[in-house]
Amino acid sequence: MIRLIKNGKVWADGRLQDADLLISADGKIAGLTEKSVDQTQLADGVIDAAGCLVLPGGIDVHAHLEDGAETYYEASCAAAVGGVTTVVDMPPFHVCSTPAGLRERMKAADEASVVDFGTHGGIVVGPSDLVEMAGVAKAGAAGFKVFMPAEPPVSREVLWRAVQTAARIGLRLVIHAEESACLEKEVNWADPLGFANARPAVAEEAATAFVLEMASAAGAPIHICHVSSGRTAELIDHYRSMGVDVTAETTPHFLIFEKADFHRYGARLKTTPPLREKRDTEILWQALADGVIDTVISDHYLGELPREDGQVPFEEKEAGIAGLEVSLPVFYHKAVHERGWTLDQFIRVIAENPARIFGFDDRKGKIAPGMDADLVIFNPDQDDVVKKYGEFSRAASLPYEGWQLKGKINHTIVRGVDIWDGNAIQVEKGAGRYVARKS
Ligand SMILES: [Zn+2]
Repeated sequence: MIRLIKNGKVWADGRLQDADLLISADGKIAGLTEKSVDQTQLADGVIDAAGCLVLPGGIDVHAHLEDGAETYYEASCAAAVGGVTTVVDMPPFHVCSTPAGLRERMKAADEASVVDFGTHGGIVVGPSDLVEMAGVAKAGAAGFKVFMPAEPPVSREVLWRAVQTAARIGLRLVIHAEESACLEKEVNWADPLGFANARPAVAEEAATAFVLEMASAAGAPIHICHVSSGRTAELIDHYRSMGVDVTAETTPHFLIFEKADFHRYGARLKTTPPLREKRDTEILWQALADGVIDTVISDHYLGELPREDGQVPFEEKEAGIAGLEVSLPVFYHKAVHERGWTLDQFIRVIAENPARIFGFDDRKGKIAPGMDADLVIFNPDQDDVVKKYGEFSRAASLPYEGWQLKGKINHTIVRGVDIWDGNAIQVEKGAGRYVARKS
């Protein structure tokens, strides 16, 4: 029993191939076949991908799936609509600090998610969390989050011990790098730039340097979250060239927007860390192209339901941008359509690198025989408009609302099953499966 994706251009072996794609009954890629050999009669189900690219599904390794005003199911549907086939959940504080907490979260996700999922452990905020790290790793965490600017902030002693523990157990520390000492206590909310000015770039840069210096000494694997500043990217490049096992992510919003955009977009762009200068966005694009920054993630977070009038006072809005549903199409539009990125660069950033960093690359991130058939059927020539309310994520606060995009996702396929057909979610709650780190 096989399924067949016909008439598309399939991304495999680092190039687009005019081929049909065969998927076996267990949801794995069976192989590519010449279009001239018609397999339709043999196939159990056929998807016509004429005019479309058949790409590896997106892997988003940092999204807040059930935190704030959204259920895990809704967020996972947003991922499906957005072409994300594997999502790594960033849990709320303390929820996954213990093995039991992590297992409970994974169980809830297993019953809700329509896409495949992993879960980060954490969040380290105190010494009591340190003793749980090994157990959390064993229970299956993808990484272990450390939110440095917690209240009270993660102490230097706890951070150092977390880095040493990570080195010992081989679990990647996933760092929200902001040094609390550099953050202003008072925000001038009357100033559209007040929020950004209160969280200056030096907070991220100093925190990154501090963590990476410790990682260098201890030999710990580190992942720097949502890099916003160009200097942070330079620090990552420096430490990696010294042999430190550091990986990094950024977001579409840090690549696209700059601080001055707060004048126009206001609270729709409120997130931490905040937006930086134009020169930072340019350095981030280059760092991403050069492989200094490995991946683009949504950092999806729907803090509150959108208000009817669409007006959100800056001060009241929870920091976060709910981007799962549009991050990949927006990033594709900006990177490939506007900046002339190759498909090779795009796929590396959205699928291959994140799969490798978090140990899923034996099953995910690539179209090759034996890999999970996690696919996006994407029409690069079709125009699309970002709607005010997403299909599922209810994210009226999206800064991308009304944007015209080149390229549209027509199908999202997880392990051979068409979970989004361009109109509706095709599977029941809980169709997604947990993705373990390879041992
Ligand atoms: Zn986050």
